[in-house]
Amino acid sequence: MLMLVACLLCFMMPQARAEELTGQWYWQQDPVSAGAETSEDVIQRALAGMGDWQPYDAPAQPPFEREEKYIWLMTTLPQGEEIRDASLLMTVTDQSFEVWLDGKRIYSYGDMEPRLMSYGQKWHLIPLPADYAGRHLFIRAYSANPLCLGNFEPIKLDASVVQMSTLLQQDISYIANIPLAVFMILIMLMYYMSPNAPKTLYMQLILFMLAFVVWMVSVSNTKQLFLDAPVFWWGLQRIDVYFFPILANLIIYRVVDREYRRSTWMAMLSFVVLLLIAILSEVFGLSGLDGCASAFYIMLPAIEGMVAYWTLQSAWRGNKYCRALLVPLLGLVAAGTLDGFSRHFHWLTAKGYWLPYGTITIGIFVLYIVQQQIRRERLLLARAAGLEEAVAEAVARSEIDTLTQCYNRNRMQAVLEAEISQHRQEKEPFSLIMLDIDFFKHINDTYGHDAGDEVLATFAGVIRNNIKKSDIFIRWGGEEFILICRGCSGDEAFLVAERLRRQVEWSRIFSQRRITCSVGVASWQGENDSAAQLIKRVDTALYTAKRSGRNTVCREPQLSDEVLVAAHAN
Ligand code: GH3
Ligand code: MG
Ligand code: MG
Repeated sequence: MLMLVACLLCFMMPQARAEELTGQWYWQQDPVSAGAETSEDVIQRALAGMGDWQPYDAPAQPPFEREEKYIWLMTTLPQGEEIRDASLLMTVTDQSFEVWLDGKRIYSYGDMEPRLMSYGQKWHLIPLPADYAGRHLFIRAYSANPLCLGNFEPIKLDASVVQMSTLLQQDISYIANIPLAVFMILIMLMYYMSPNAPKTLYMQLILFMLAFVVWMVSVSNTKQLFLDAPVFWWGLQRIDVYFFPILANLIIYRVVDREYRRSTWMAMLSFVVLLLIAILSEVFGLSGLDGCASAFYIMLPAIEGMVAYWTLQSAWRGNKYCRALLVPLLGLVAAGTLDGFSRHFHWLTAKGYWLPYGTITIGIFVLYIVQQQIRRERLLLARAAGLEEAVAEAVARSEIDTLTQCYNRNRMQAVLEAEISQHRQEKEPFSLIMLDIDFFKHINDTYGHDAGDEVLATFAGVIRNNIKKSDIFIRWGGEEFILICRGCSGDEAFLVAERLRRQVEWSRIFSQRRITCSVGVASWQGENDSAAQLIKRVDTALYTAKRSGRNTVCREPQLSDEVLVAAHAN
């Protein structure tokens, strides 16, 4: 979206056609600082054709002595097509300077003296009077930094509005890449929160992207409109770049094959040491940031070239993280080196920076990491689902009796509680039927324990085949079973019990002899009843059935008439 807006802005802005001051440039040493002359004197003499003015090839630096701190530059403003509301646009690094048009000073920056901190980097838009054409332009500059003195990147002459649009157009790569980088940081942050994320790796990647965003902001032109702090931005920009190889090597250290780890760590340390030297020597006034920048841009391709080789070796052997890292690593090192050679050493000519486009190559690694994270999460989910299933199975198994496949006593409590709480609200009846095989001990004693087991299993099968799905069938213990009949009144349960008793009697459960059972029936009596009382009552009813001669169904004593209803077989 932001990229689209940036492109639209680019089309809407007036076409930049800023003219560079390509006329002949001259330079001379500064007699003013020695107290020999005033600036006005220098200019008067120059206009009169005097002075020690030497031609040189701007925008390259004039060939002054290294110890020079001041310099004069001169050129003639072009005639030809007149530009309304014209201004000069120049980006100046670590210099204090004055601009004179013939004998009149039209602009100044800094106090033309040594400063504790540098003069930073800043673009200047210098308005020109309407009659500028053909007049002489003088610049008197001061810098303690020989790399910067007299280095005025191509100065552009155009209408002020066009100059502003040029500045903004130069920022398009940042306007496009900063949101992309921020977006990737947000994605990484989201995944960082995930409990199974490799947090250190993600944090290092986030820090790397942050360093990248900070750098893009610090080199953009637009930032000056929001915070005009040239020294701060210039310092930040130069310190920040050290964090690229440091953080990148930390990331590679984490993923590269074991045998290259030590070397990658040393590569990382070498940039840490260089950064410390740069900062310390800067603090002690030795312009260490600039001095070490030269070492930095030589070390960058050399050391990172080796790191890239180790990453390639690991990738070759199937290290997938290294494979995904290769493109961003090579892309960033190449872009950083090109920028260093063109912007710092002026060995190559390039207008802007290449590095911002590195964001796209970092995206490849971020995508790979996201893909890995999704894979990990899917695996965990599958494992969790498997575990859940296993737990459910184990719980079910713990509630089922293996011999009869009925629920065992563990299940009884939970089911009864649930049933009671439900019936409290709904006022629907429910009943318990307790069944006990008659003279079972005798079967065990006569035919053996295995025969007894067989009888138990067959008996349970007969009952199961003759009850509703909603009934819950439980082996209460030994040869005693309980049936929870949902929605059954005492009368209905009694009929069910009687049917079951008869079914058992007539089924050929055991070939050697007829099997019968005694049955007790009790029903839920409403709010004042309890699970313990209900079980006690059904047990008593069963006991009554046994006492009444077995192969019988007995109901609990009826509360209404206190009459025991019993039904006998035959
Ligand atoms: P009643 O008619 O009064 O119920 O007499 P009974 O013999 O059926 O009752 P009793 O409680 O005296 O005996 C139950 C027997 O059931 C005792 C025990 O050895 C046997 N038993 C309990 N569990 C198992 C089992 O899992 N398998 C086998 N084969 N026998 C069991
Ligand atoms: Mg018994
Ligand atoms: Mg029995």
